[in-house]
Amino acid sequence: MTNIQEIINLVRENKPDADLGLLERAYEFASNAHQGQKRLSGEDYIQHPLATAKTLATMRLDLPIIIAGLLHDVPEETSFTIEDIKKNFGKDIAGMVEGITKLSGVKYRGIERYAENLRKMFFAMSRDVRVILIKFADRIHNMETLDAQRPDKKLRIAKETLEIFAPIAGRLGMGEMKNILEEISFPYVYPKEYVWVKELSETRLKVEKKYIETIKKALSKEIIAEKITNFTINGRVKENYSLYRKLLEKNRDIDKIYDLVALRIVTDNVPDCYRILGIIHKKWSPLKGRIKDYIAQPKPNGYQSLHTTVFADHGRVVEFQIRDRAMNELAEYGVAAHWHYKELGKKKFTKEQLEWLEGLLAIQKNSVDHEDYLEKIKLDIFHDHIFVFTPKGDVIDLPEGATPIDFAYHIHTDVGNRCVGAIVNEKMTALDDPLRSGDVVDIITNKNRNKPNVDWLKIVKTNAAKEKIREALKDKKTGLIDRLLAKKIQ
Ligand code: MN
Repeated sequence: MTNIQEIINLVRENKPDADLGLLERAYEFASNAHQGQKRLSGEDYIQHPLATAKTLATMRLDLPIIIAGLLHDVPEETSFTIEDIKKNFGKDIAGMVEGITKLSGVKYRGIERYAENLRKMFFAMSRDVRVILIKFADRIHNMETLDAQRPDKKLRIAKETLEIFAPIAGRLGMGEMKNILEEISFPYVYPKEYVWVKELSETRLKVEKKYIETIKKALSKEIIAEKITNFTINGRVKENYSLYRKLLEKNRDIDKIYDLVALRIVTDNVPDCYRILGIIHKKWSPLKGRIKDYIAQPKPNGYQSLHTTVFADHGRVVEFQIRDRAMNELAEYGVAAHWHYKELGKKKFTKEQLEWLEGLLAIQKNSVDHEDYLEKIKLDIFHDHIFVFTPKGDVIDLPEGATPIDFAYHIHTDVGNRCVGAIVNEKMTALDDPLRSGDVVDIITNKNRNKPNVDWLKIVKTNAAKEKIREALKDKKTGLIDRLLAKKIQ
């Protein structure tokens, strides 16, 4: 059971100047709206938005996000509308709630529809990353109360969490969120494997932990002797799901896993990271090819750290990760860490980030699972596609290389036939310029024009556009056009 006071306390601690009155009003509004409703689990409905908001508060996010979390199911589940939320809590919060509400409209209706919706959903979410964060928090509580669901639904939700949501969290650099989502769904998706991995890990850890303690002490001494004082050193145990994935790569042989426990050293600054790396290598010899400098060359999701694996005392293999405090924060919270610093509160993604998000949709193909629909989604839906927006913000997906003409025909045949120009990201663009994910496309039409240019047939990428252009040209009865067409095309 969560109560509003816990959330108030968290907010007060993390954001001392936050408007707590507004938070309390949001709680009253939500609990009034959900009055009398129950969750499948039997608890009062308000427990769900409370749990969602609490997760967001624990992530140290801003008050508007926490409030949107409290209100996120109001339009979907109660008689109050987005307008009501706007009136009471403003446009910004209402916008986030609207984003979430649109997503919850996505219901499973057979594989085709589901995949289609999912694809649009993630791109819609990518426009305001805060909506993704609320969705994660919402999903965590849904997973926590999953046992109340029907068995088939249970499996579907857990799979979606494991195979879609967790990788997205990873891609957003949210290591901690990724772990939470994976750990919470692993036992539902692979019950037997879960038990196997858990027992294997626990048995192994009994021995490992003691050994790591001695390594930790020995190293601490050396670091202090080198006059580095501001550092922490902690053992971090590999999570079950992540261990499971690694075991599958290593023939299920736990002796080949070197980082079941790794030592994580967090320093004040970058020079100390490199100095500590030197201290470790002086003391123990490193394994070839296992030194990784993600500080100089960060991972695509922004992760930075030094990694090394050494032959430590008694010839045993130990992995170290060394990073400064800011890097550590980023490794755990990813994009969410931006809200921990006041100056960063960007709501919309830049073009660069959007490109990066494209990669997010190319969700991991290195999967171990069966023939289900999620597999299909991963394999053929998320690549060779671009996602562009109408000026109103609707997401349109097109094949790679698609042009403004394809876009125009996708909107409507008349828009295509009357299209005379395109404004992409507020700039005039040639009609044959390929669009890129994240582009906002506005088509200029001329009423007096009613047939397409025959050359467009060579430019367009989509069959739909080609068909419509042919049709429009044919319409104009003259055999001339047909002859022209035949000539131009072959
Ligand atoms: Mn919800």
